[in-house]
Amino acid sequence: MRIGIIGTGVAGSILAEGLLDAPGIEVETFERAAPGDHAEAGTGLNVGPNAMKALRLHFPARHAALREASLPWRRWFVDLTDGTRLLDLDLLDVAEEPGMRIRWSELYRLLRAPAAHQTRHGHVLEALEEDAAGRLVPVFRADGGLIRYGAFDLLVGADGRYSRLRALTCGEPEATPLGVCVWRLLVADVADCPYDDYGQWFHGNARLLSFRVPGDAVYIAGTFPLPPDGRIAAETQTAFAQRTLFTPAGGRASPAVAWMLDRIEEGIDSIHWARSATIPLLRHDPSSRALFLGDAAQAMVPTLGQGATQAVECGVVAARILRMGGGVAEVAAARDERVAFIRQFSVEASDTLIPGTDIVAATRAKGSAEFLGRLRRTYTAVA
Ligand SMILES: Cc1cc2nc3c(=O)[nH]c(=O)nc-3n(C[C@H](O)[C@H](O)[C@H](O)COP(=O)(O)OP(=O)(O)OC[C@H]3O[C@@H](n4cnc5c(N)ncnc54)[C@H](O)[C@@H]3O)c2cc1C
Repeated sequence: MRIGIIGTGVAGSILAEGLLDAPGIEVETFERAAPGDHAEAGTGLNVGPNAMKALRLHFPARHAALREASLPWRRWFVDLTDGTRLLDLDLLDVAEEPGMRIRWSELYRLLRAPAAHQTRHGHVLEALEEDAAGRLVPVFRADGGLIRYGAFDLLVGADGRYSRLRALTCGEPEATPLGVCVWRLLVADVADCPYDDYGQWFHGNARLLSFRVPGDAVYIAGTFPLPPDGRIAAETQTAFAQRTLFTPAGGRASPAVAWMLDRIEEGIDSIHWARSATIPLLRHDPSSRALFLGDAAQAMVPTLGQGATQAVECGVVAARILRMGGGVAEVAAARDERVAFIRQFSVEASDTLIPGTDIVAATRAKGSAEFLGRLRRTYTAVA
């Protein structure tokens, strides 16, 4: 069986590693980025305990390498920007091991390494053709021209939120915006940072999220509601506007928030601004010749830190199933119910970002037995 993997981000890299030396399977991997170019090198992310559990059970060497390159994510606290504490959760109350806090560049570097020798970098999937037997032939743009490497029995779309493989086989998915802007910033040399593990700070529905990552750096992400037209106005992309957005009534920000507001002011020009949106869950094309993993199948809202986390689970599960001779239907059966549950939970947990929600009541509800039960299921019910 000849399998082509499009994209070596999170899901594609793990699948490629999991299929190394698989009997009866020949794998080729294609990646848009150049070798050593870890596209999101500037920022950090938190990956859930469930991804770590999946890796520990099935990819122990990768689990160990990631633990080495990351900091443990043990805690989730939520404050108002004046410092009033609303929630303080020990992740080990609802998980079997901590999650991790890591730089994007390190995550991609470590995940891509095992299958680097079989990856064709600088290859952008552009079109699809068929051979006489009806197998898909991907057409790549590389070195300024179009290149084909023959037909594949299965193509795996691990090419992210704007998956070209999904668009070519199933049409462009309709995006459902969450109605918020999400920005991110990585701050270096942070000896004076007054916090360490994962925290969130609310002022109205505007939220700061921050934690330390390895290398004496801090990751800061901001979220704020957008107008109905979804436009991120230039006036909001200034240090003054962001300071206003997060400064509590009365003007006294907590030490953590005051520290972040100063860093935002210094780093305003390097902030990356984006909109959060979901696309419908889709695991494969109607002919079962294309399988979708990670964001290509299930791009979700970022509230619970489950985007890359679920991409890890996708890569682990798909590798095990394809190795054992299973196909797209088995991957769908193993993944879709769990992904649907986590997507719904993530959307509901985003209530505090949506205007009209009572931040204090909705955040305190995240300490309820009902919410914690769903969080425990998210963090532990790994295939
Ligand atoms: C602001 C922000 C913050 C986030 N924070 C978190 C977080 O803290 N925790 C978390 O779990 N998730 C987070 N996410 C979500 C996370 O980024 C994604 O869910 C995750 O990267 C998806 O992994 P993936 O493998 O599906 O795709 P990606 O990691 O996006 O990888 C796709 C790969 O495909 C390649 N590619 C794309 N198109 C082509 C093509 N046509 N041809 C060839 N190659 C192609 C790309 O170069 C890339 O290497 C965040 C997202 C955003 C936007």
